[in-house]
Amino acid sequence: MPAIRKLLVANRGEIALRIMRTCREMGIQTVAIYSEADRHALHVRYADEAVCVGPAPSSESYLKADVIIDVCRRLGVDAIHPGYGFLSENANFARMVREAGLIFVGPSPESIEVMGSKLAAKAAVATYNIPMVPGTPSAITNRAEAKVISAQIGYPILIKASAGGGGKGMRVVENDQEFDEQMDRAVSEAISSFGDGSVFIEKYVTSPRHVEIQVLGDQHGNIIHLFERECSVQRRHQKVIEEAPSAVLSPEIRAEMGRCAVDVARACGYYGAGTVEFIMDNDLNFYFLEMNTRLQVEHPVTELITGVDLVKQMIYVAEGKPLTMNQNDLQIKGHAVEVRVYAEDPANNFLPDVGTLQTYVRPQGNGVRVDDGFEQGMEIPIYYDPMIAKLITYGNDRTEAIQKMIRAIDEYQITGVQTTLPFCRFVMEHDAFTSGNFDTHFVSRYFMPEVLKPEINETEIQLAAVLAAQLFQDRKPVTKGNGQRVEGNRSKWRERRLN
Ligand code: ADP
Ligand code: ADP
Ligand code: MG
Repeated sequence: MPAIRKLLVANRGEIALRIMRTCREMGIQTVAIYSEADRHALHVRYADEAVCVGPAPSSESYLKADVIIDVCRRLGVDAIHPGYGFLSENANFARMVREAGLIFVGPSPESIEVMGSKLAAKAAVATYNIPMVPGTPSAITNRAEAKVISAQIGYPILIKASAGGGGKGMRVVENDQEFDEQMDRAVSEAISSFGDGSVFIEKYVTSPRHVEIQVLGDQHGNIIHLFERECSVQRRHQKVIEEAPSAVLSPEIRAEMGRCAVDVARACGYYGAGTVEFIMDNDLNFYFLEMNTRLQVEHPVTELITGVDLVKQMIYVAEGKPLTMNQNDLQIKGHAVEVRVYAEDPANNFLPDVGTLQTYVRPQGNGVRVDDGFEQGMEIPIYYDPMIAKLITYGNDRTEAIQKMIRAIDEYQITGVQTTLPFCRFVMEHDAFTSGNFDTHFVSRYFMPEVLKPEINETEIQLAAVLAAQLFQDRKPVTKGNGQRVEGNRSKWRERRLN
C-alpha cells in the first residue's frame, strides 16, 4: 500500500486533534470535518483543510458516511482515521471506505464485525485457551430456560446486550424474582440504543476490576501487546480514571493476560491498535469481556509507559508496513494516570452540565499531558459526549504520578460548568485508591457528594477558633439585677473583621 499523504479525521474534539498532531509530525496533510455546532472548534482550526458536513446532531454530520467519503474524493484524501465513538466501530463504514479505494486506519471490516458483537466475539475465541465469565453462549430466546441457567450460575447475574457499548444495555439481577423485570428493561434498552435486542447472561463478578490489554497487529500476522491499563474507577459502567500499569498485576499474570489478548486478536485476524478487555476478581482470576476494535480514550497512559505513539503505529500498519518492534523490545517504564475531565456534576449524580467555559486554564509542567479540544470562552455543545479533556500525568512510580495528578488538578482552572475534577482529586487522595485496593464499586462504596465540600485548612481552623473565642469573650452577657440579658460590648473593629 502507498504511503498516506493526506488523511481525513472523521471525528471531533480532543481525539481529532490528537490524531492530527501525529499526522503533522509525520508530514501528512490533514482534513477536518465538522458540524455546524463545531464551526469554531480547535480541530477545525488545526487541520490544513476543513469541511462542514452538516447540522449539529451527529446523525446529520459526523455519522454521514457517504458525505464523508465524498469529501475524501473531492479533496484527494487517501486515508480516514475514525478516532473513537461515531463511525469507528462501524463495519459497514470501514467497508465503504475500502470500496472507495481509501485506506481505513483501523482493522478490517471483518474484525470489526466479529468483535462488535459480544456473542460473536466469544464464539470466535472459543477454540483458544481464554478464560470466560460463566454464562450463556448465545442470545436468550427462552426465558424459562434462562432462569434455570441463572440459578445454576448463581445470582447475582448480569444481563448484557450483545451489541452493547459505552456501559449501556447492562442490568444486574439480584434474584429470581426480579429476573423478568430486568430482562424487559435490558431488551428494550438494547433495542433503543443498538437496534438489536439480543441479550445474554454472564455471572456478575463481585468485587470486579476492569483490566484491559492494548494490542497492536500488522497486516502480516504479527501481533504484540503493550501491557495493561487498569480502569476500575467507573460511574455508570463508564471509566473516569485509568492508569498503567495496574497496581496489582504480577509479571506472571501480566504475561498470561498479554498472551490471551494476543490470541483474541489472532482469533479475528486483527491488525491495527485494539483493546482486549478483561474483568478480574478478588483472587486476580481474569475473564475475557470484549474487544474494542479502535483507538481507546485512555490510550495515552500506555503511550507514556511504553514510549510508543499508538496513532503513528496505526498509520504505519494501515500503510501496510510490518511492525518495527517485537514483544521483547517493549518494557514498562514509570507509571501514568489519566483522569477524564467531564462537564458533569459529581455532586448531582454525574449529570452532564453543559454551558460556557468562563475560565479555562490548563495545568502545565513536568510530567503533565493535557489532551483537550476546548479554549476559554467556548461552549460545550449538548449534542456530543461531555468530555472536556483528558488530564494525564507521568511519574517514575505510582506515588509520583498520583502526586503530580493532585498538583495538576489543583492548577486546572475551569469555571462556568461543573466538572469531574473535584471527584478525581477525591479519588487520588483516597486510601482505597492509593493502596491499590479498589474495584469497580469505588464510586458507590466511597463517594458521597458531601466529600466535595471545599476543604478548610489548618490555619483557617486555628484562626476561626481564635476569633470565636474572642467573640465569645466580648459577648459574655452582662446580666442586670433583674436577670435580663444586655448587649455585650462588642468592639467595632472585631465586628468588621468578622463580617
Ligand atoms: P473506552 O473503552 O475507550 O473508554 P467508552 O466505553 O468510554 O470507551 O466509549 C468511548 C466512546 O465511544 C464514547 O464516546 C462512547 O459513547 C462511544 N461508544 C462506545 N461503544 C459504543 C457503541 N456500541 N455505540 C455507540 N457509541 C459507543
Ligand atoms: P461495554 O461494551 O459497555 O464497554 P463491557 O462488557 O466492557 O461493556 O462492560 C463494561 C463494564 O461493566 C466493565 O468495565 C465492568 O465494570 C462491568 N461489567 C461487565 N461485565 C461484568 C461482569 N460479568 N461482572 C461484573 N461487572 C461487569
Ligand atoms: Mg467495554
